[in-house]
Amino acid sequence: MTDSTSLPPGDWPAMQPGWVWLCGAGPGDPGLLTLHALNALAQADVIVHDALVDDRILGWANPAAELVYAGKRGGKPSARQKDISLQLIDLARAGKKVLRLKGGDPFVFGRGGEEGQTLVQHGVPIRIIPGISAGIGGLAYAGIPVTHRDVNQAVTFVTGHDRQGRVSGVDWTSVAKSSGVIVIYMGMKHLADIAADLMAAGRGADEPVAIVAQATLPDQQVLETTLATCAADAEASGIGAPAVICVGRAALLRQALDWQSLAMGTPPRNADPLGLGRPVEDG
Ligand code: SAH
Repeated sequence: MTDSTSLPPGDWPAMQPGWVWLCGAGPGDPGLLTLHALNALAQADVIVHDALVDDRILGWANPAAELVYAGKRGGKPSARQKDISLQLIDLARAGKKVLRLKGGDPFVFGRGGEEGQTLVQHGVPIRIIPGISAGIGGLAYAGIPVTHRDVNQAVTFVTGHDRQGRVSGVDWTSVAKSSGVIVIYMGMKHLADIAADLMAAGRGADEPVAIVAQATLPDQQVLETTLATCAADAEASGIGAPAVICVGRAALLRQALDWQSLAMGTPPRNADPLGLGRPVEDG
C-alpha cells in the first residue's frame, strides 16, 4: 500500500500567503478528491469547510492547519454566507494560506461563485479547484449515468431550494419539457410539490425516479420509485438529505449498472433495462 496522502511526483502549485483556494471535496468518498485538493490540504494554514466534507478528508490536512467549520446544516449553528466570505477575506489579509473546502463542486449549487466574486471584489487572489458534483458522481455510484444515447441528449441540474429555502422560482414546465433526465439537488423537502409540478407539465406518473442519499459514502441509500409515488415512498423509507433525485429513464439503468451490488456477487437484475432488445452499442 502506498501512503494514500502523498502526491505523485509533479509540478504541484504552491499556496501563497494571502490567497484563498476555493476547492471542491467531491461527494463524500475520499477517493473522489482531486490531487489538487490533496495538494491544498497539505499546504493550507486554515481550512474553512462545510458540513458535507467528510472527516476522513479533513484528516488528510496538514496537522498544523486550523479547521474552521462553516457549514449550514447538521443541526449546528449556521454561519451566514456573508460572514463566511468576510472571514475568508480577514484570513487572507492576515497572510494565511486559506483553503475553502466545499462538498462536491464549489460552483455547483455551492455558492462558490458568490464567495469567489466577493473575494475578487476585495482584491483577494483566488484559485478554483473543481470537484466531482453529487449530481454526477453520486448518481454514478448508484449505477446511474446522467447521459446515455438511448435515453437523453440533455440533462438538467436543478435546485429544489432557493435563497429563502422555499421551492425555487424554477420553471418546472420548461424543465419537464426540455430535459429527458432531471437531477434535483436539495429537493427532498419539497419532493411532493416538485413531482406534482413535473407531472402537471406532462411527465408520466410511472416515470422512473431514483433517490440517492449519502451517495458514495458507506451508508449510501438508494430508493427506486416513480414520479407518482416518490414522495410517499421516500417518507415511508425514511431516506433523507443529503440526497440527489434523478427523474427519467436513466434511473432504470441501475438495474444493469449497480456496480456495488455486482461487486458483491449479485447478478445484474436486468441487463437490458431500456428494453432495447439489441446489443446496446449496435447502430
Ligand atoms: N456543491 C455540491 C452541492 C451542494 S448543495 C455538489 O456539487 O455536489 C447540497 C446538496 O447536494 C444536497 O442537498 C444534495 O442534494 C446534494 N449532495 C451533496 N452531497 C451529497 C451526497 N453525498 N449524496 C447525495 N446528495 C448529495
